[in-house]
Amino acid sequence: MQIIRITSDSINFWCPICGVKNVSQWEEHIQPCPHYEGTLVLGEFIEGDKNGIFADAQDKLAEQVDVPNKNELTIIDILGRDLNDTYVGFYVDAPAPNPQTSFNLYNTDWHITRKLTE
Ligand SMILES: [Zn+2]
Repeated sequence: MQIIRITSDSINFWCPICGVKNVSQWEEHIQPCPHYEGTLVLGEFIEGDKNGIFADAQDKLAEQVDVPNKNELTIIDILGRDLNDTYVGFYVDAPAPNPQTSFNLYNTDWHITRKLTE
């Protein structure tokens, strides 16, 4: 998995491939698109998760019992370990006065986009 860190003053987020506004602050919160997998809010709240990738990582994190520094491991660490580089996670850090972190995961596999254009 590749990670791109962004600082933004809102949690609004658009798919970098097809342009759908997947995460929205005010309207219906989550809009799907073929590339969007889901969002992790504040490091623990899962939204979307179309293919259960976040839930799977959360389960794997819970199973880490004999790992040193277990309490410092995060769902994002597990995703980074298990997903290949066709997955891109955008780590969005919103500063005060409305502090928020969200992690928006996309599958950039070319085959998904090719199906859209056929
Ligand atoms: Zn898309």
